[in-house]
Amino acid sequence: MDLIRQKEWFDSAEFEQAFHCDAALGAFCSEEGTEFRLWAPTAEAVELRLYAGGHGGQALRALPLQKAERGLWLWRTGEDLDGVYYDYVVTVDGESRRTADPYARACGLNGQRSMVLDLRRTDPAGWQQDAAPARTPEQVIYELHVRDFSWDEAGGFDPADRGRYTALCRTGTTLNGDGLHPTGLDYMKRLGVTHVQLMPVYDYGSVDEADPASGYNWGYDPVNYNVPEGSYSSDPAHGEVRIRELKQAVQALHKHGFRVIMDVVYNHTYTVDSWLWRTAPWYYYRQDETGAASNGSGCSNDLASERSMCARYILESVLYWAEEYHMDGFRFDLMGLLDVPLMERIQKALDEKFGVGEKLIYGEPWAAAETHARPGTRLCHKGALPTLDGRIGAFCDATRDAVKGDLMGEDTVGFVNGGGLEAADLRKCVAGWATGSDAMFGAVSQTITYLSCHDDWTLWDRLVVTLDDQRRFEALAPEVLRANRLAAAINFCCQGKPFLLAGEEFGRTKNGVKNSYNAPSALNRMDWARAWAARDLVDYYRGLIALRMELPCLQDKTADAAKRILFAADLAPDCASVCLENADGRRWDRVLAVFNAGEKAQDIHLPEGEWQVLADETSAFCWKKPMRLTDAACVAPVGALVLGRVR
Ligand code: CA
Repeated sequence: MDLIRQKEWFDSAEFEQAFHCDAALGAFCSEEGTEFRLWAPTAEAVELRLYAGGHGGQALRALPLQKAERGLWLWRTGEDLDGVYYDYVVTVDGESRRTADPYARACGLNGQRSMVLDLRRTDPAGWQQDAAPARTPEQVIYELHVRDFSWDEAGGFDPADRGRYTALCRTGTTLNGDGLHPTGLDYMKRLGVTHVQLMPVYDYGSVDEADPASGYNWGYDPVNYNVPEGSYSSDPAHGEVRIRELKQAVQALHKHGFRVIMDVVYNHTYTVDSWLWRTAPWYYYRQDETGAASNGSGCSNDLASERSMCARYILESVLYWAEEYHMDGFRFDLMGLLDVPLMERIQKALDEKFGVGEKLIYGEPWAAAETHARPGTRLCHKGALPTLDGRIGAFCDATRDAVKGDLMGEDTVGFVNGGGLEAADLRKCVAGWATGSDAMFGAVSQTITYLSCHDDWTLWDRLVVTLDDQRRFEALAPEVLRANRLAAAINFCCQGKPFLLAGEEFGRTKNGVKNSYNAPSALNRMDWARAWAARDLVDYYRGLIALRMELPCLQDKTADAAKRILFAADLAPDCASVCLENADGRRWDRVLAVFNAGEKAQDIHLPEGEWQVLADETSAFCWKKPMRLTDAACVAPVGALVLGRVR
């Protein structure tokens, strides 16, 4: 069959009726025996090969699978094969290809072979009792890369933990082991973020697990979707170790008050020549009009989420991570490539299984390029957001770009670095772009408000590029610091869910490198000495996060949230204010935030009442002190002034 006819066949209702399979897939073992179950609808023959180890060595046995109904292939034995590694040889159109099991839950070194494993053996002590911490009034998401977190020697981590899952379990680490300045988990606790979003921790292909230090990658190149990455584990050659260690990390994060969000990349695989492709050539992939792999991901291929077995694969994978690893949420990479019905099924299934809103889901509402989905497929890009359930969230690039400049040009600037600040724009940012004629979201509950993530410049680097002709990234220059504080103050006064790249709060720099996905660890690592050097900026973020927990007007994610904005006003060129109703607040019934992006201090007239200073241009902990104003106030150049009306 030619490629185009085959593509149409895979897209057809006839194919789905004939081959959609709801049977359990993968390898399952117990004392009663072991069963291997593979979906390979176009295969002529499938052979199972068993191995003692996860790499190297000859197969112990090779066994033909039996063809069953709906494209399913099976092999059963009365033996318990717990701990045995395996792969398949799948023959399609006379061509035989070796493949690992795309439905595998454990694997050997570099994910090249799958593993039969009794998962209960991987549960750390106390795992059955593990539970996410209670929900906080606001959710503040911190994007973290496992290796970056503990790679820096100055972090004071045990060498055996550096770059690994186990570092996420350690308390008591300090800067150079000085016993004084917390790093790692203790530092994050002090900062006050509530959710840790782990950059990819499923098995990816770009780092050699046999020698992790030889390379670095963010990990947006999935190989085994349902297995943890091995390069972060203390022993990637033994399949059970990475699983146990990731569970231990989740357990420790939970114990210390964090919920854990997993970054998932179901839009593409490392290469089109994946385990999914080898078991069912082209079925899981979109193709263009010539039959070549569609490339809306910019990463050489796109998964066909609209096909029923691909949708099943993604849905079950998400549920698996939530159930087996106790993940509390999912960040969907290039969600604009996934289809709307699938995202809605995922949200409903998570809500039904774990409780409404218990698992957060959000994603990037865009793609890198046009994709070739089945005609009529509704994709989960920006245009679809208003039609989605309010619990499916997305990153808000509108606020990001308004505050610091869009990502297209090197010179583009936003509110805080010379682009001007007007009340009409500020109001939209504060309301999370969820109301009005140019609304991007259907509800503010969907809005993820952010200034930096792993992609593109860090916030600091963006500010340096636009504010310092000499591009001194390392220096903690006062004019960059004040622009950073103003940007953070605006971000944390928006009603969407705040999100930040780990280290944004200490002026994290990658020396102007925009896309550091495979740059050395030395560039990507969390610089713990800088976290101490920039402690005043860290404290500013810490104060904003703590203040946020006191302000219902910003926590409100209901459809009425925008109605709390009483007014937004232009006070001077580059200086605007926004006032929010906070009647359900404990201490202040109104919040007035004034942002001055201009170079001159601004005297402002205050509305009636007694106002307490909550944050100013240098401190976000003013609200802890009794600083009160009536009638008038002064806002520093390139600074914020946040006031609360005393009840
Ligand atoms: Ca890997």
